[in-house]
Amino acid sequence: MTLAVKSFNSGHVRLLVLTPEYSDYLWLGALLAGDSEMEPDLTWCPDLIDCDDLIRNTHFDVILWDCVFHGGSEDAFLQYLSASSNEKPVLALSAEPVAERAPGLLSNGAADYLSRQGLDGWGLCRAVRCLWYRQQLSEYAHGQLGKEVASGFINRDLFFDRLQQALLRAERASQRLALLHINLDDFRSFNESFGYQKSDQIMLKLAERLRLSLRRMDSLMRIGGDEFAIIVEKVEDSLDITQIIRKVVNAIGEPLSIDGQNVVVSASLGVATYPEAGESPENLMRRANRAMFEAKRDPGTSYRFYDRQLHITAGYQLRLEADLRNALRGNELEVYYQPRIDLASEEVRGVECLLRWNHPERGLVGPDEFIPVAERSGLIVPIGYWVIEQACKRLQESSELGHPGLVFAVNLSFRQFHDRKMTETIFRIIFNANVDTSLLELELTESAMMHDPEYAQRCLRELNQLGISFALDDFGTGFSSLSNLQHLPISLVKIDKSFVQELGHSADAEHIIRAIISLAHSLQISVVAEGVETEGQLEFLRQQHCDEIQGYYYARPMPWSDLVQFLDNRSRSACLQQ
Ligand code: C2E
Ligand code: CA
Ligand code: CA
Repeated sequence: MTLAVKSFNSGHVRLLVLTPEYSDYLWLGALLAGDSEMEPDLTWCPDLIDCDDLIRNTHFDVILWDCVFHGGSEDAFLQYLSASSNEKPVLALSAEPVAERAPGLLSNGAADYLSRQGLDGWGLCRAVRCLWYRQQLSEYAHGQLGKEVASGFINRDLFFDRLQQALLRAERASQRLALLHINLDDFRSFNESFGYQKSDQIMLKLAERLRLSLRRMDSLMRIGGDEFAIIVEKVEDSLDITQIIRKVVNAIGEPLSIDGQNVVVSASLGVATYPEAGESPENLMRRANRAMFEAKRDPGTSYRFYDRQLHITAGYQLRLEADLRNALRGNELEVYYQPRIDLASEEVRGVECLLRWNHPERGLVGPDEFIPVAERSGLIVPIGYWVIEQACKRLQESSELGHPGLVFAVNLSFRQFHDRKMTETIFRIIFNANVDTSLLELELTESAMMHDPEYAQRCLRELNQLGISFALDDFGTGFSSLSNLQHLPISLVKIDKSFVQELGHSADAEHIIRAIISLAHSLQISVVAEGVETEGQLEFLRQQHCDEIQGYYYARPMPWSDLVQFLDNRSRSACLQQ
């Protein structure tokens, strides 16, 4: 081992320094300059967006992270760093003593922690050097592994070792893990018709394609002549696994070209998940293997989960996703509208646009069932634009029908921010529709902005400049306090219905609602209460000077034609009262 380390030990150590202050960057540079052997090569990054770009596109050996550099949550940022840098070691720095900060940061993925108090060149160089060596060692091991995969099989011990490591990580982070065992169907006949060498080329090409379809953190290994294993880490729920299965199945289904000849292969996939299917590498492998053999019974490329319930859920989700793709094309989606009533004037201030799916076999499917599928598959992006288009169209119509000035609120999901052309596309939609943008409101949750807060803020500002306003949805269920939101262009908060529905049952709910309303008002932000169903809830909210009400008490979400009738009726009765 010592020999191996020695042979790596030359050249520059490439460091990414994440700190907002230039003076801190210079100070760290000066401390590290003392080490002539490491020849540190530093890159300073004070900006979150540049950071994402640098991490994904540039090679670094060690990341030096000033803990004040994050987009809202230290823990979330640390997890993001480790995932997007391909697990480069992160050396965390902050002012607090080691005993206070190190345990939390280390358990969240930091490789080491140093307190800035009394930090000297020797201490910093030693820590960086340690991480650098460790990183080189692990890259060396992976490099070996890569070579083995390319040349054919991976040593079984090495495979179990990797699975064991992954299982330990999953256990520590209380996360799920999935093991996919893939076996090519009827590989023997390939060997017979193409010969061993060409059949091997088929496997290598397939490996390459599978690798491209996986996330960077997933590991693919060839474990036999016609077999692969994939370790999928950080699986949150069955939707995550179904996405991966979908990609793998698609990758296998595409024809492969060998010497100008197109070859189509099929394979059987067995899936075993930790902790459901076992906690040891041996158990997991055995069960994935068993599931794979069951999949062999189905013709073509097919998969089976060891866990029966997961198999049912995954199958259901994959079918739902395929159906949803058709739904958008086949006009099966429809927008319902739920009125929002101004408490002082009793007038309809606006409507929230809520998606419904008229499924040809299953009837009306609610968004809680299909929005998560749309989000994971990315389909929410085109669907989301379609909803905005509908809202613009109805906005125009409502004014022509004698109901001008209604606000149309559309929900925006976190995944829509992943579309880097979001502001541009929304701009194009509203420009084409030629509507008054001050009547368009976008509702988003705090989590929508968590992933990349700086980018999300920029989007909000750009859209806000076009006249669009923003509402914070499900308020009270997230983490941020209202004062954190002061710098965002948010003009409205929607109190989550869970609080409203607790009114009369819990004093806490009353306190929370009171506090939200008074704080929002002090920041010139209006408040809508959602999920109002009873007279009692309405009375309480009126006393607290809540601005608007949305809920079954006044109206349920309804199709467009019903809404028009609802609006007509209300105008008529308002006229009669005058
Ligand atoms: P949300 O944005 O919190 O929408 C409010 C939900 O509360 C709606 O559920 C509405 O029907 C329901 N609701 C309103 N008043 C009451 C009431 O008095 N009592 C009760 N129990 N419920 C009430 P819905 O329509 O099922 O939508 C569920 C969620 O699906 C929405 O929650 C939203 O997050 C999402 N969603 C709906 N349409 C879209 C869309 O176009 N895009 C995106 N990204 N998400 C959408
Ligand atoms: Ca909403
Ligand atoms: Ca809501």
